[in-house]
Amino acid sequence: MLPSHPRAELDATADGPGVAALALPNARRAGTNIGGLRPLRAKRAPHPLRVAMLAPPWITVPPPGYGGIEAVVADLCDELVRVGHDVTLFACPGSHSLATVRPLLADAHPDEIGSALYEADHVAAAFAEIDAAAAAGTPFDVVHDHSGFAALAMADRLDTPMLHTLHGPFTPQTTAFYQRHHANASIVAISATQLATGPAALRASARVIPNPIRISAWPLELEHDDYLLWIGRMTEEKGPHRAIDVAARAGRRLVLAGPVQPGQETFFREHVAPHVDDDRVRYVGEVAGVEKQRLFGRAAGMLMPIRWCEPFGMVMIEALAAGTPVLAFPEGAATEIVVSGHNGFLVDDEREMAAAVERLGELDPATCRASVASRFDTAEVTAEYVRAYQAVAGMGLRAGRRPAPGVPDPRRAARPGVPDPFRVAARPATA
Ligand code: UDP
Repeated sequence: MLPSHPRAELDATADGPGVAALALPNARRAGTNIGGLRPLRAKRAPHPLRVAMLAPPWITVPPPGYGGIEAVVADLCDELVRVGHDVTLFACPGSHSLATVRPLLADAHPDEIGSALYEADHVAAAFAEIDAAAAAGTPFDVVHDHSGFAALAMADRLDTPMLHTLHGPFTPQTTAFYQRHHANASIVAISATQLATGPAALRASARVIPNPIRISAWPLELEHDDYLLWIGRMTEEKGPHRAIDVAARAGRRLVLAGPVQPGQETFFREHVAPHVDDDRVRYVGEVAGVEKQRLFGRAAGMLMPIRWCEPFGMVMIEALAAGTPVLAFPEGAATEIVVSGHNGFLVDDEREMAAAVERLGELDPATCRASVASRFDTAEVTAEYVRAYQAVAGMGLRAGRRPAPGVPDPRRAARPGVPDPFRVAARPATA
């Protein structure tokens, strides 16, 4: 029987594939939490914003295990509240946050990701609350949408301006969708390579804000065990089977972690499961919390043998925050996160990745951590989003719904000559 979402028990005393069992007998663990470098009392926002944060309806915020978008939304909400903004989080039941949480549907739907039924229901309920707030004289300044497609497609029905974060890759289908609907909102891409693959009109008006990580929440591990780690969704594009090949070529033990999502059972059964022997290759299922952090932090290196245009790849910055270097193929955002010889190695194929395993010892855990602390820490990323919200809210777009095509937009005319700082700051289109 295939485990769909097995959660690993990584305690040394547990039966089964615990990480502790992978440690060399003499391996020392030198966990050092260098959190707290940032002052706890953040500067308060001089002009607090009212933000409606729209999470997807699938997984709770924060996620109990797998869930990159939900981890981003959780961090962002907490930091916005911490610096004085008024945030309402529309999310599935069971979510919790420093923001005011408004659960919209009866249940979370982790096994029905992408179902139009639940997404439409969730978004309609959120829009009703957002409109009701405006009608009651307490409008939100901005809706920050992470929920998929329905909200963006319908954003011009809402009086409150929307900022939409692109979380997925551009495919022929999503490119056509964004060509039609991107102008309904201000668009944020999560990596430059993601944005570069989008339609030209979207590229001309969008900006890049990377995903955040709360660095202080990740202990830095200065000493590592000898196993390699692969963690993520068990899918072809993420490459757990290629990680198995790399580990075999390098003669290293491999730990695989992550859920087998609905629809991926055959891939797992045919390409991963036959190699799991609980010795050289261990599959520990879906991991979470401190066990997950320990798994990241104690690995000699994390393997990212991806074959798709990775929009971001939270697991890369998580590994680096824990002091673990990343070996990746040069696909998508890996090219922006991994700097060869500094915090990992970018290599072209399995053979090169196996060779790079031998060079992991050249890389310094503190340098790995610093490479993400300087670019992705939640405080900086949130400040970027606040600037984006201010630009969107400052447009006066709240005074009415979007006019029919060809009709001048009175909301923009109300502020003639005022440049949209959000769009001015956007990267120019390259094609
Ligand atoms: N994750 C987790 N437990 C697992 C596997 C993954 O908590 O067993 C988390 C991982 O730490 C990361 C997220 O799920 O925060 C995956 O995000 P990423 O951007 O790497 O991948 P994607 O969103 O493309 O699946």
